[in-house]
Amino acid sequence: MRTMLSTWLRPGKVAIDAAIVADQEGDSLENCLVRGLSAAEDHPELIAIGRGALPNSDGEIELDAAIMNGSDLSAGAVCGVRGILPVIKLAQIVKDTTPYVMLAGEQARRFALANGFVPENLMTDEVNRRYQMYLESPERSKAYVHSTEDEPPHDTVTMLGREDGHFVAASSTSGLPFKLPGRIGDSPIVGAGVYADDEVGCAGATGMGEELWKACASFRAVEFMRQGMSAQQACDAVIDQMIRRQPASHQRECVVLALDKNGGYGASISWGDFDLWISEHGTSRSQHYSGKLGAKA
Ligand code: ASP
Repeated sequence: MRTMLSTWLRPGKVAIDAAIVADQEGDSLENCLVRGLSAAEDHPELIAIGRGALPNSDGEIELDAAIMNGSDLSAGAVCGVRGILPVIKLAQIVKDTTPYVMLAGEQARRFALANGFVPENLMTDEVNRRYQMYLESPERSKAYVHSTEDEPPHDTVTMLGREDGHFVAASSTSGLPFKLPGRIGDSPIVGAGVYADDEVGCAGATGMGEELWKACASFRAVEFMRQGMSAQQACDAVIDQMIRRQPASHQRECVVLALDKNGGYGASISWGDFDLWISEHGTSRSQHYSGKLGAKA
């Protein structure tokens, strides 16, 4: 049986639905996640992934993605890529066709063009409108925390997959809204945003990238599972450790999710609220998680 997870209520649904279609068409587990993330990247209304994502402080959309296959620990990633979709596919091509793990920025874009990707303007009218609001905001840092009134600022989609003891982890994001140009978060970093090892399981992260990166959150969750913890116990242990050691995790969402070898899944969040999509037997459901340090007011 295949189990797939994806993060956040709105973008996670787009991704899991597309992944289920790929599953029904008999595609590989890895390709199901790539197709799920590609669908979310292509969706113009999702604010933190692909087309229509909120830009950096210079008004440019910079995209990050990573994929790791637990069968042989192969991994591919791209970061700071402009005007190319889907970057998760690009990350998969880096994994499959080069001896490297990560390509960055303009050079990653050139690699995409050499591989047949067509450059696109990913800024929608709505993104331009929100960027203008950001520029005019008297307190620009406020726009960074609350990018819109009714949506959470995090829409990064991290997907995990399991099938008969095989695991894949993947993520795609535009990073934090209105970030400093060139800033890279945890999502495309193997060990921080994604990790998969068929000996143990897989894990992913979403939320405050700097904190999740410093925690090596995904690798740590997988290593906790290697020591015998379930997916849920491992996620809780990572977040507990972050809460103990990283004060910034007290006010920002830091989320870890995992799949273990015994058929379990889990997720945990430091502060705020989080929704996880779970697909099993070709149908999906969402599960809500509240922060260990409290939900959003
Ligand atoms: N983790 C992402 C980053 O820091 C953001 C997110 O998950 O929303 O780039």
